[in-house]
Amino acid sequence: MSLRTATAVIDCQALVKNFQLIKKMSPNSKVLAVLKANAYGHGLERIATTLIQKNVMADAFGVARIDEALVLRAAGIVKPIVLLEGFFSPDDLPILAVNNLQTIVHNEDQLHAILQADLDKPLKVWLKIDTGMHRLGINPDEFQHYYQSLSKSKNVQEPLILMSHLACADEEGNELTAQQMALFDQLTRGLNEERSVANSAAIFTLPPAQNEWIRPGLMLYGVSPLPLSSKNANCVELEPVMTLQSSLISVRKLKAGEFVGYGSAWRSKKETMIGVVAIGYGDGYPRHAQNGTPVLINNRRVPLIGRVSMDMITVDLGLNAQDKVGDCAILWGKQLPVEEIAEYATTIPYELLCNITRRVQIEVV
Ligand SMILES: *Cc1c(COP(=O)(O)O)cnc(C)c1O
Repeated sequence: MSLRTATAVIDCQALVKNFQLIKKMSPNSKVLAVLKANAYGHGLERIATTLIQKNVMADAFGVARIDEALVLRAAGIVKPIVLLEGFFSPDDLPILAVNNLQTIVHNEDQLHAILQADLDKPLKVWLKIDTGMHRLGINPDEFQHYYQSLSKSKNVQEPLILMSHLACADEEGNELTAQQMALFDQLTRGLNEERSVANSAAIFTLPPAQNEWIRPGLMLYGVSPLPLSSKNANCVELEPVMTLQSSLISVRKLKAGEFVGYGSAWRSKKETMIGVVAIGYGDGYPRHAQNGTPVLINNRRVPLIGRVSMDMITVDLGLNAQDKVGDCAILWGKQLPVEEIAEYATTIPYELLCNITRRVQIEVV
């Protein structure tokens, strides 16, 4: 007997197709492919390498931390890499210069550090304007000050990239989005620089946001940034890159009225067969997945029952089930969208993908 436990199957061909869909939707934009958090749980180096082949060419990569960028450099990746939160200390600047890392500037400390640094060559800077999300970014009334200071600095390459981030791009026709776009346009129109606004959601919902640079993350991995109810035609062309699967390690009969799992949180109404799948929150399967969350076994959706344990979950296979120990169970992936599982776990697909733990084996196909 040899069972395969939790495995994330990574389909690089699906990644290529999603990239090509992005190019089809935004043919005139350069693509900053967002690879933060281990490429949304898919494996940083593998995803980066797949995105720099002859037929797919990302123009730059985006990460959140210097360490992530240095992993890519150590893997021999020479493409531009952008630190999406900027640098955290003036001491980082020589590291940026040596490793050819680009940085976002979103606050006064970063501005001063760059203006005062003694660098061998100028840095590429993305100036982040807060147009209404109120997370990172400079205030609109500070824009001229930052813009003039950076433009004049010998430490900054031309052109600058002016950017902003949208709070509600996944809601079609959202009013704040319209205000953010208008403000961004008002500040940056006519300037001889490059611009960047769109994340995955905006690539689908907001053609005007597709300017010189787009910044897709989630959609690269074949997951829709829009609500499940959205009818956006392009969304259906996305192909999930990750399929998370494991095996049934037990199939047992349960009498009516018997309890299952920690806290005896589920009780059978009638006689049935219970399956135990070797995956749990120790692998990154969400502990908050509700009873009824679908699991795909032998092409059939069966409901999760009882509490999610560290290494196991239980499912109700039904009294006449023919499923056997060793059969494959799919937790999410091609036939079972992670978007749907996220709803059952009252979270978002981003979190489920990022939370895959080191114990999960990776199989690249
Ligand atoms: C993470 C991130 C993105 C990508 O967002 P998705 O919704 O995954 O497409 C784009 N821009 C910035 C600044 C980000 O931090």
